[in-house]
Amino acid sequence: MRFKDIEGQRVLINRLTEIIDTGRVSHAQMFLGPTSSGSLALAIAYAQYLNCEHRVHYGEGAELRADSCGECPNCRKYEELEHADLHFVFPSATTSVVTGKPCSEDFQEEFRDFLIEKHQLGTEDEWYARLGIENKQGLIRERDADNIVKTLALKSYEGGYKVVVMWMAERMNLTTANKLLKTLEEPTEKTLLLLVTESKDRMLQTIISRVQQVVVPDMNRELSEERRGMFAGMFVAWMRLLFKLDMKTLSAWVDKTAGIGREPQKCFLQYVQESLRACYLKTAANIELPGELSFGDEKFDTFFPGMVTARNIEQMNQAMTDAIYAIERNANAKITFMQLSFTMSKLIKNR
Ligand SMILES: [Zn+2]
Repeated sequence: MRFKDIEGQRVLINRLTEIIDTGRVSHAQMFLGPTSSGSLALAIAYAQYLNCEHRVHYGEGAELRADSCGECPNCRKYEELEHADLHFVFPSATTSVVTGKPCSEDFQEEFRDFLIEKHQLGTEDEWYARLGIENKQGLIRERDADNIVKTLALKSYEGGYKVVVMWMAERMNLTTANKLLKTLEEPTEKTLLLLVTESKDRMLQTIISRVQQVVVPDMNRELSEERRGMFAGMFVAWMRLLFKLDMKTLSAWVDKTAGIGREPQKCFLQYVQESLRACYLKTAANIELPGELSFGDEKFDTFFPGMVTARNIEQMNQAMTDAIYAIERNANAKITFMQLSFTMSKLIKNR
């Protein structure tokens, strides 16, 4: 799949293609987000772009700045999901046909058909329904791990990157996860392991700490006009407080934010993460993302983007990712937002 066929996610896609173009590809990455947000499609498109022989660049000002060509031999095989160096691992269970100890290898054809039919957006339940195992819990088992280790150790067929895409990585059992640790730590050259997961909570910390995280925002829960307005107001107030760092007003802001509930808090942090990225694009490359950079306050809209620079964007991004993770893990919201405020305050001043 080419990036252009994925709905939304332009900010994230531009970041991903930039990373590949500058040759900073991390050998193990975790795409975190619901499958319906396109996390799996993004992972596959990412691998296709990496292997494309004639990447297309549309220029700095374009909404989508780069994409795979869709026409070179690698792209063609990727579009059909038939590339010899593209491997899929996913949860499975015993079925009427496959008894004994099942693994992804036994269901490759079914899985490819499922991906093509559902445009790589099919859910875990839909996958189980297709296998006829609605009442069972699929797992990614030891044999899957053995296959991954073997696959990644072999030479690539086509000379490019060998890629293993693991969908619903949170379904790995403990043995599987442990077997992968060595591969994560000592990767062979030109290999890429993409773990696609909906829930970081269910992933082992030892795995999480060894992979680079790519947070895929859930576009299906597109912010309502009302919520966007509320988040923009919260963001403007918050950023202004960070300059002054007046503890009394900041405490009040934190208390209020801690009271809105976990789900809205998570959405707010994702909104902030996207907004900061958009600010950075505006200052660094003079790219305007339509509709994304108005916070409803003209003065703020003009001066704030300049506060986000190459010096602080990555750390800000990481701070947001960490805070989202903390909120997901039921960390104390007041402490999380207060610590995040101090971190952000420092980063903004260090631009
Ligand atoms: Zn291509």
